[in-house]
Amino acid sequence: MLLRHTTPKEIDRQALTINPAKTCQPVGAMYAALGLHKCLPHSHGSQGCCSYHRSALTRHFKEPVMAATSSFTEGSSVFGGTANLVQSINTIFTVYEPDIIAAHTTCLSETIGDDMTAIIGKAKDDGVVPEGKHVIYCNTPSYVGTHVTGYANQVTSFVKSFSTATPKKKNVVNLVAGWMEPSDMAEIKRLAKVLEARTIMFPDLTGVLDAPMDGKFHMYPNGGTTLEDMAATGDSKFSIGMGPYSTEDACKTLENKCKVKFEMVDIPIGLKATDRFLMSLSRHANVPVPDEITNERGRLVDLIADSARLLYGRRVALWGDPDTLIPLTEFLVSLDMRPVYVVTGTPGKLFDARMKEILEKVPEAKFKSGERADMFQMHQWIKQEGVDLLIGNTYGKYIARDEDTPFVRFGFPIMDRSGHNYMPKTGYQGAANLVVQILGALLDHEDRTCSEEKIELQM
Ligand code: SF4
Repeated sequence: MLLRHTTPKEIDRQALTINPAKTCQPVGAMYAALGLHKCLPHSHGSQGCCSYHRSALTRHFKEPVMAATSSFTEGSSVFGGTANLVQSINTIFTVYEPDIIAAHTTCLSETIGDDMTAIIGKAKDDGVVPEGKHVIYCNTPSYVGTHVTGYANQVTSFVKSFSTATPKKKNVVNLVAGWMEPSDMAEIKRLAKVLEARTIMFPDLTGVLDAPMDGKFHMYPNGGTTLEDMAATGDSKFSIGMGPYSTEDACKTLENKCKVKFEMVDIPIGLKATDRFLMSLSRHANVPVPDEITNERGRLVDLIADSARLLYGRRVALWGDPDTLIPLTEFLVSLDMRPVYVVTGTPGKLFDARMKEILEKVPEAKFKSGERADMFQMHQWIKQEGVDLLIGNTYGKYIARDEDTPFVRFGFPIMDRSGHNYMPKTGYQGAANLVVQILGALLDHEDRTCSEEKIELQM
């Protein structure tokens, strides 16, 4: 009864968000920075911000997340953080030896108005950036946007700083990865390999936040897009951006800088989004889709057919990031489920437009995006008319407990379970994982709550 004060009656709120479906910009910038090999994220602000961003990622991935901070004091809050950042850059390269420092701002440094270009220029003039090493930055003021915006800004900074065009384009397709789990990226790379497509993925969190335990501490795990590959993205013949909210800016920047054309697709979650991704990759890499992948698709369709009567008409509430909610909602509709409430704290008109189109056949559906879209209001909708299933991050567990509703954990952050960074949700196999999880949650609840004469041994 943790949320017992939530009432079904809605009051129009203009200046209050309760349980927002988002977190702050630098969390995304830090996550994306870890997807470059030997890159150390750096938070230009107070220690508290950096601790929060690191702990948000560590709680989700159950891995130590390395990051540095400018460690602002009262003095830097008044006079600016130039001295702190220059000193930090010196210390980081001397002690921790990364190849790249990816700095991002915070609310405080943005409010002061620190000029990051000038500060990094000063660090170079002072000789604290060693030969062959790099300091890049992105602006991540957290009073606008969300962790998704921060992720997008960081990915764009990779392109601005490293992508280089030479006169010769190569038969390579860039896979610009939106915010997803390392396992999701690994699954996409596996699909590309089966297609025999030549690709470069960036950012690439595989082998970083799902690195194997070998008994030794690795400040910089083996994974992450290498600097050479990042530079080579400017010579690729095409880019596929997966998730417009997290990757469209980077793709546009790459097109303007290096004349690499691009196509936006959804993150390949579910049957149709995976179809679209594979067709795009097949077309632009000029490779056919082999039988091995067609068979994976067939197995997913078989699983859906086997489960159809148990999924049909089930009402679902979901929350999270727009790039994952859009294909997920589409997948639920294709399973004949009814995604009736969908909420994201990330602002943007595209979400509303796509939801309108996807939910055309679910006229009772309500969806909301932006800073006023919160989980409190979604809970109020659930109080008005209940749902059969919840899909979203850990913050939904209070609603699940209160309403005694089956709950599938999906998205970021998942703090109260482990393994999500190892189990893909992308591709046909990932979609099958999702169907199994959804069925398990629904049937476990039914077995636990139905009357004794209704309990079934057979599905
Ligand atoms: S002060 Fe701003 S940047 Fe720092 S943790 Fe809070 S919202 Fe994030």
